[in-house]
Amino acid sequence: MPPDATTETDAVFEAAVASLRSFCLPPTPQNYAIWFEFHAGHNDKLHRALTIAMSNRRSIDSFMMAELHDLFFADSVERRAAREAQTTLREAAGRILAAGADAERYGETLSEAAVTIDTDTHGLADMIARLAEETTALSARSAELGQALRQSGDRIADLEKKLAAAHDAALTDALTTLPNRRAFDAMVREQAGLAMNTGETLSLLMLDIDHFKKVNDSWGHAVGDAVLRLVAATLDQHRPQTARVARYGGEEFAMLLPATSLHDAAAHAERLRGALAARRISLRANAETIGSVTISVGAARYEPAEPIGSWIERADAALYRAKREGRNRVVVEHRSSAA
Ligand code: GH3
Ligand code: MG
Ligand code: MG
Repeated sequence: MPPDATTETDAVFEAAVASLRSFCLPPTPQNYAIWFEFHAGHNDKLHRALTIAMSNRRSIDSFMMAELHDLFFADSVERRAAREAQTTLREAAGRILAAGADAERYGETLSEAAVTIDTDTHGLADMIARLAEETTALSARSAELGQALRQSGDRIADLEKKLAAAHDAALTDALTTLPNRRAFDAMVREQAGLAMNTGETLSLLMLDIDHFKKVNDSWGHAVGDAVLRLVAATLDQHRPQTARVARYGGEEFAMLLPATSLHDAAAHAERLRGALAARRISLRANAETIGSVTISVGAARYEPAEPIGSWIERADAALYRAKREGRNRVVVEHRSSAA
C-alpha cells in the first residue's frame, strides 16, 4: 500500500511540535519551519547541522534557531537587493526604449519625406510643416532620452553601491563585524582549492567559548554580546596576517591558517587560549569583574581532496574532546588513517 501522504505530513507535524516542546522553543513559524524540515528529512544540510548540534549537546535555543533560519530559509539581504536592482534596471530599460521609439519614428518620417519630395512637389509645404513638427517633437524627446539615460546611469551607479553594500552585509556578522558563517563557507572552499594547488598545509581551528551560557545567565544577554565582541576582537588582533577568522555561529569561531602546519596552528591556538584566559574582564558600568573567559579549541589539517564537511567535523570532534577533557585547552585531531 502506498504511504498515505496526509498521515505522513501529520506525523512530521507532530514530531515538529514535539521537538519545539522538548527544547522549550516558542512555536513561531520560523522555529516550526526548521523542525518540520528536520523531521521531513528534505534538507540534508539542515538535518546534518541540527544532528551535529544535538549530538554535541549544544544549546538548542532561540539563538541557534535564528542562525539556522538565516542559513537555510531566510531570503538574504543580498538576494533582495539583487531583485530590487533587476526591477529598477527593467524600468530604466523601459524608459529608454520608450524615449528612443520616437527617434525611430522620426527616421521613418524623414525617409518618407525624401520619397514624397521627389515625386510630389505639391505636397512640399505640408511635408515641411510635418517635418518641422516632428523635429520639435524629437528634440523634446531627445532631451527626455538624454535625461532618461542620465537618470538611469545615476540609478545604476546607486544600485551598484547598494549591491556592494548588501554583498558585504550578507557576509559580515553584525555583532562582531567578523566575516560570518556564509563568508567562512566560501573562504574555506577557496583556501582548500589553493592548498590543493600549492600542496601547502592548510590548518583549521574551531574555537568555542567555555560555559558561555553562564555569562548570559549571570550577567544578561547584553554582557554576553559584549563578551562575544571582545573575544572576536582578541582573535582578530592576535591572528597571523594570512589567517582568516570568522564567527562560525553562536559563541563559536573558526580560524583558517594557510601554509601552517598543524603543530604551528596548535601553538597559535595555545597562545590565543592563554591570552584570553589571562584577561580579567570587568563591566564598564560599575567596574564589577566577571573574571576571565576561556575557550576550547579543536585543530585539524586539511587532507587534500577530502570533503570540506568532513574536515570541519574532524576539527569539531577535536573541539568537543577539548570540552570533555575539561575545557580551556587545545586538542589536535589526528586522522586515524594519517596517525
Ligand atoms: P560549553 O562550554 O560546553 O561550550 O558550554 P556553553 O554554555 O558555552 O555552550 P552552550 O552551547 O550550552 O551555550 C551557548 C550559549 O550561547 C547558548 C546561547 O544562548 C548563547 N548565544 C548564542 N549566540 C548568542 C549571541 O549572539 N549573544 C548572546 N548573548 N548569547 C548567545
Ligand atoms: Mg560554548
Ligand atoms: Mg558552542
